[in-house]
Amino acid sequence: MHAHRRLSLRESSRGACAGREHAQSGRLFALTWREARLEFFIAVEQRAGERRVGVQHAAAQPRKNPAFQPMTPDGIDAAITPESAFELLKSGNARFLKGTVIERDRPLEVKETSNGTKPIAVVLTCCDARTPPEAIFDQGLGSIFSVRIAGNVLSRDGLGTMEFACQLGGAKLVVVMGHSSCGAVRTACEGLKLENFTRLLAKLNKAIAQVEKGGADRDAEFQNLVAAQNVKNVVASIQKNSETLRSMVKDGQIGIVGAMYSVQTGAVHFGDLRCGE
Ligand SMILES: [Zn+2]
Repeated sequence: MHAHRRLSLRESSRGACAGREHAQSGRLFALTWREARLEFFIAVEQRAGERRVGVQHAAAQPRKNPAFQPMTPDGIDAAITPESAFELLKSGNARFLKGTVIERDRPLEVKETSNGTKPIAVVLTCCDARTPPEAIFDQGLGSIFSVRIAGNVLSRDGLGTMEFACQLGGAKLVVVMGHSSCGAVRTACEGLKLENFTRLLAKLNKAIAQVEKGGADRDAEFQNLVAAQNVKNVVASIQKNSETLRSMVKDGQIGIVGAMYSVQTGAVHFGDLRCGE
């Protein structure tokens, strides 16, 4: 169908989104998403109830593809779905890993975002200096709402920020991203006390207790398991404690996904995207 290679996402039936319909069965819906003077090509196709989303950099001259249709800003906004936002982050991390990140014209990005932005996702991640989501997912200005706090723990204010990002800001995806070798997790495992930080660290105790099995050493491997368990706990807690986000996930308006970032390799490993009933 396309002369160019494209990434594809095969969804499980459970993950099928009940949100806006972008494609009729067997028909291709394609558009470009302009980012920093470069265009992305997003294709959504649906066959026999199975939807696939492809995202690819426009190096293959999509204008020559008969399926290509230039889109209005509203059309582009409508085409950013939980699935395509997920694909855009995955393809961004792939570029980050390969060293093929987009060369950005920052002054131009500032100009283009000066009247507002349409972020695709809200990412809760650690304050660790190695985990900036805009870099890890190779995104430009205006693309990501960042919520950053040590240990990527969930607070009421963080949850409110996610509600703001999704309900008012138009983000289509909530990502909770922990990381390996997390200093906050290590500190919690060591039981260190530090003025106000102690209260934050207590939020990791549940994950520590879940991973701990009768006197296990709280070594680096243990700490990475705690970080991963905490991501699962936070994903569950977001849906439990926010009616707004829970119903948006249920209706397929947004997706939610947990992820672990490796500070050793630069790779993001995602869990299952949850979107729809
Ligand atoms: Zn950390």
